[in-house]
Amino acid sequence: MDEFEIIRRYFVRASSDSDIRIPIGDDGAVLQPSPDHDLVSVVDTLVSGVHFPESLEPADVGYRSVVVNLSDVAAMGARPRWMTLALTLREASHAWLERFAQGLFEAADEYAVTLVGGDTTRGSETVISVQILGDVRPGSALTRSGAAPGDGIFVTGCVGDAAAGLSILQSGAADSEDVDYLVRRFARPSARVAVGAAIAEFAHAAIDVSDGLYGDLEKMLLASGVAGSLELSKLPLSPQLTRLVKRDDALQFALSGGEDYELCFTADPDAAAIEELAEHLGVAISRIGGVNEGNGITCLSDGRPFDYSHPGYRHFH
Ligand code: ADP
Ligand code: MG
Repeated sequence: MDEFEIIRRYFVRASSDSDIRIPIGDDGAVLQPSPDHDLVSVVDTLVSGVHFPESLEPADVGYRSVVVNLSDVAAMGARPRWMTLALTLREASHAWLERFAQGLFEAADEYAVTLVGGDTTRGSETVISVQILGDVRPGSALTRSGAAPGDGIFVTGCVGDAAAGLSILQSGAADSEDVDYLVRRFARPSARVAVGAAIAEFAHAAIDVSDGLYGDLEKMLLASGVAGSLELSKLPLSPQLTRLVKRDDALQFALSGGEDYELCFTADPDAAAIEELAEHLGVAISRIGGVNEGNGITCLSDGRPFDYSHPGYRHFH
């Protein structure tokens, strides 16, 4: 199977998007952005053995490669539209490619994003790079830098599950429904695209939680030039996680585990509007702390200072 056959067999699909003027097959895709919108571009690379275990089901690899990028689009408050896929493979395995493409298109369909191009090469390890283009109304993109003293700090969904799931994949655990649930949160994370688009109307700052809540919150606060307090008892921990591990371990997964792809944002602490939104979209949104002047994060446990400092995942130390 040469690269042209791989592309034709696994990645060329019909699309009804008339804003794609020239699709896969030429030297470049030609796209017609919405006239009254700005383009948003994100890219993320997944290296086998670094960003996912080699043993991960190929359909999950495909699904995850799209979702981790959609999560960045969500954090910008944008709508995802088109994506490109740069794929480096050790070998052209039919079984792997078929399942990988299946997972990739599952995510693409779920979030209405169309594959418009890419690159396929042979290399010494599996490397998957997805770029997504999205659009947003001028001036309404969410950034990391808008948090202001007095804001509440919010997070979607539950934190810690995906990191626990990854740890289970790496070290094993006795089979149970809770274990399956956590592994699935790693293999098939949710991208909070609908939440991102909705909060773009009123949130002051946002970031997606890819490297761990503590480290990602720290990045957002630093970019905004403010400090924050984090109430550990308010962290949304799933019943599956809390049944399976001790509270300290659950906190560790939640604060520095990463892989959650939830959204962390700040806004006026008007809980009513946010509660309504959470209910409307069917996604939990928890208020976990507040923004104040200064720098750094103060962790509180039931109102009392709690010494916690652990960096999120860093690629290079
Ligand atoms: P070129 O040699 O001009 O870079 P290629 O032969 O690599 O072009 O690619 C041919 C077409 O297939 C291009 O439109 C390219 O965007 C698309 N393509 C290549 N690899 C992929 C892939 N993995 N997924 C989707 N489209 C791809
Ligand atoms: Mg070319």
